[in-house]
Amino acid sequence: MTYQELISNIVQLQEEGLELFNAGKSVLGKNLLATHVGSYDGPQILLQAGIHAREYITTPLLVEMARNLHNNNLVEGGGIYFVFITNPDGAEIVLDGIDSVNCQITKDYLINANGGGTDFSQYKANINLVDLNTNFDANWGQGAQNVFCPSTEDFVGFYPNSEREVQSLINFTLQTKPVITISYHTKGNVIFYGFEGQSEQDLNRDLNIGEALSETTGYPLIFTENSTGGYKDWCIDTLKIPAYTIEVGDENLPHPLGLETLPEIYQRNKNVPLVALEKAKEFYNSIDFTTPVVQNISKEVSNGTLRTSTLSRLESLLERRSARRRSNNKKQ
Ligand SMILES: [Zn+2]
Repeated sequence: MTYQELISNIVQLQEEGLELFNAGKSVLGKNLLATHVGSYDGPQILLQAGIHAREYITTPLLVEMARNLHNNNLVEGGGIYFVFITNPDGAEIVLDGIDSVNCQITKDYLINANGGGTDFSQYKANINLVDLNTNFDANWGQGAQNVFCPSTEDFVGFYPNSEREVQSLINFTLQTKPVITISYHTKGNVIFYGFEGQSEQDLNRDLNIGEALSETTGYPLIFTENSTGGYKDWCIDTLKIPAYTIEVGDENLPHPLGLETLPEIYQRNKNVPLVALEKAKEFYNSIDFTTPVVQNISKEVSNGTLRTSTLSRLESLLERRSARRRSNNKKQ
């Protein structure tokens, strides 16, 4: 599969009567292609895929879901947003190779980070060598696998929400106000739910919805531990809404998953949007998007000051870290 084929697969939906729009832009200015199925009235669900470059198979998975729901008129009493690809710059590198990068300096930078090799099939990051699913402002920089230097994976960025793709998804989520979000990744056949610091009430709600998702997919439901800075984490932590990460594909398969695995993955996941929507109807009235924290973020995003506010948080994190280092040095 080429990058062009990946995108054409999404664009094809327009010929079937679905309207495509942009959930935002990548660092290189590519569109984060999205669509909506169902009604704009009532509860909304948001599904997003392809935030990790090598996990691009989740893009055609969402395309198939949207196609099925639209063509068979299956969505009632609410709507479902699909963000088909959150990291198009990264997906292009995995699918078309490092020679698809036009800027020589960027290309050299990426090859250097890749240990000098030109095989980018295992690449996860965006074009800035930031792992987008660690860049969100939710206990940013405190994950067990986080790294603090540009890398093909696990680099959290120089400050939270630094990346254009992350800012786009935040913005889009604030505009669309989903009741539940679901992020598609590979691999492991599991569903992650919950985040540190949640109230017991929210955790019970998320467990209840998660069990329904677990039942329809056959994937076990696991509480998230030692992982921070993800989109799911941000949705739970900031918006206080239920959010899930679904890891599709057998753990023993190599990255990136071959397209031959798609039919089985689709069969297991095709009812996820509708199961989530039914659950969203139950919890719709208890989720409040007018909380002061959301209003503040909306203001920050529209004023372009999101960066400034997150920078000051980074400064305090760095201060804490250097204070820790100073006290360690004293001990030695
Ligand atoms: Zn992933």
